[in-house]
Amino acid sequence: MKHFKETLYDAVCQEYRIDKLYFEHKTEHQHLMIFHNAMLGRVMTLDGIVQTTEADEFIYHEMLAHVPMVAHGAAKRVLIIGGGDGGMLREVCKHPIESVTQVEIDQAVVDMSIEFLPNHSAGAYDDPRLNLVIDDGMNFLKNTQEKFDVIISDSTDPIGPGEVLFSDTFYAHAKRCLNSNGILVTQNGVPFFQKDEVQTTYQRMGANFTDMTFYCAPIPTYYGGFMTFAWGTDDATARTIDHRDIEQRWQQLGISTRYYNPGMHQSSFALPQYIVAALNDVES
Ligand code: SAM
Repeated sequence: MKHFKETLYDAVCQEYRIDKLYFEHKTEHQHLMIFHNAMLGRVMTLDGIVQTTEADEFIYHEMLAHVPMVAHGAAKRVLIIGGGDGGMLREVCKHPIESVTQVEIDQAVVDMSIEFLPNHSAGAYDDPRLNLVIDDGMNFLKNTQEKFDVIISDSTDPIGPGEVLFSDTFYAHAKRCLNSNGILVTQNGVPFFQKDEVQTTYQRMGANFTDMTFYCAPIPTYYGGFMTFAWGTDDATARTIDHRDIEQRWQQLGISTRYYNPGMHQSSFALPQYIVAALNDVES
């Protein structure tokens, strides 16, 4: 029986039984695998790290998409960086937006996800509002003059091609490409194991926004407890909107979800004390 052993950390790792291998190939950018596991459904890995599983992807995608979209309240133009599996696009397309641009570095991730993870995009790659760009997210941001209401960085960890998406320059360009009340959210790792990541982002992204914090959700296959999502905006009211307003916006949208709801939205900004302490260490 073959197993997949994640190589994210030196001292600990998670291991998955490969019940059926659908795809394994070194793409132009990364080592991509898609396989089936009896408990988690289809699993995608890149460079030895779990990216997404059919069983728990909803938590990640719903929280990284709906929290900024609902908080903004009127987002019309959205940019997704990364997210080749299509799950983020699926959730964003549930909103009454005018356009969504997705900038993914690896065409193979998009193609193989449409073929072997069809439930992730659920047809969203055919949405006429989509402009799919195959490019490095950093390169795109540096060169574009477009402005967005919400930018979502659905990236790999800051290793390999994803590393630039955690740089000072990336945050600065993302800020430049946001409308004045725009919101940037980013995948920011599991601080129980990746404390450096939350601290570095706090410093780098914090330098660009007047309101910068994290919100979180527990995603079983990004193991180690809460995953943090970085939140940056110059509109401080976006995360302090009244619970009744969130409820009303959500009801009007009529989107059905399995994790996100107005209660989870609001409570996700409460950070456990070990994360608060890690951020305080940066400040002092
Ligand atoms: N949910 C996942 C996680 O938290 O690990 C992220 C999954 S998604 C598949 C990550 C995507 O980011 C991949 O498809 C990868 O090709 C893409 N990516 C990595 N670096 C990138 C870059 N510099 N520009 C654009 N896309 C990038």
